[in-house]
Amino acid sequence: MMKGVVIKSTGSWYKVLVNEVDTYDCRIAGKFKLMDKRFTNPIAVGDEVTIELESGDENTAVIREIIRRHNYVVRQSPRKKHHLHIIASNVDQAMLIVTMREPNLKMGFLDRFMMMTEPYSIPTVIVFNKIDICTPAELKKLDALIKIYNQIGYKVLKTSAVTQEGLTEFKELLSDKVTLLSGQSGVGKSTLVNAIEPTLDLRTYEISDFSGKGQHTTTFAQMFKLSFGGYLIDTPGIKSLSFTHLSIKDIAHNFREFFAVSSQCRYSDCSHRNEPKCAVKDGVENGTISPIRYQSYLSLIDEVESQNYWEMNEDL
Ligand code: GDP
Ligand code: ZN
Repeated sequence: MMKGVVIKSTGSWYKVLVNEVDTYDCRIAGKFKLMDKRFTNPIAVGDEVTIELESGDENTAVIREIIRRHNYVVRQSPRKKHHLHIIASNVDQAMLIVTMREPNLKMGFLDRFMMMTEPYSIPTVIVFNKIDICTPAELKKLDALIKIYNQIGYKVLKTSAVTQEGLTEFKELLSDKVTLLSGQSGVGKSTLVNAIEPTLDLRTYEISDFSGKGQHTTTFAQMFKLSFGGYLIDTPGIKSLSFTHLSIKDIAHNFREFFAVSSQCRYSDCSHRNEPKCAVKDGVENGTISPIRYQSYLSLIDEVESQNYWEMNEDL
């Protein structure tokens, strides 16, 4: 038996890294118990596992056991809403790359991303890339956003792969940590990573990983060792995120600055929408809670409610 970390998964095969240097192609043995029946994948990148070599082959092995995860990041399956896909486990931090333009910033996406990292309080860094092409007005807006997110407790970094601004800090943040790296396609994730780790070309692997089987490209993450210490878990560009598997209460919990004041709401089950004496609404009014965050919250809970409505009335 050996202990290792899953660095890649194709759904049926798993690449496991042992002692930081040796890799084994592994499969799972027979019936493997799922931690949660809603999970579509029993094993995720980042999982620590014990493996046993298969007789007659030096490079293939069988995964016997998953060592208890200390955290994980899940997203709702884009195809089946009651199914959850574990993107990665055992991460030290998450990093989301966004841009003010090319592509335009979607505020909702940023706050939705936190719905994946907040349940386990995974520290999350927001990286604003391509600041070299921002207009003065956009830079001003960006500074206001940085203030909002810093105040909530998120680290924010401004970068440009063109002028190299922020790249030293970007590298420092990654070093000696296991980081889940994410961003919508086109934000410059591959360019940024390549700038600090030239041997790692994320674009190449995304293309070579394409299964070619119909419309769905791979949604599996992959872990890379960084030469300056630490690991990067790259996730293929996420287009949209839905969270209708969460309850309104879950969502309210994941807005950490709302949760911090919610004990002061008159009703203990306050949804922070129409209830009187709501500390969150008061916060929005007196400027301690960002109206942008509040809008994201409202749109998320509206989505959950309309989803539940259609499910309850499926027979109509
Ligand atoms: P990915 O899909 O997130 O991996 O994005 P890429 O790394 O492929 O970058 C998308 C495009 O943005 C490419 O044409 C890059 O050259 C460009 N790009 C990346 N970073 C920057 C940046 O900081 N400033 C500018 N102006 N362009 C950038
Ligand atoms: Zn409230």
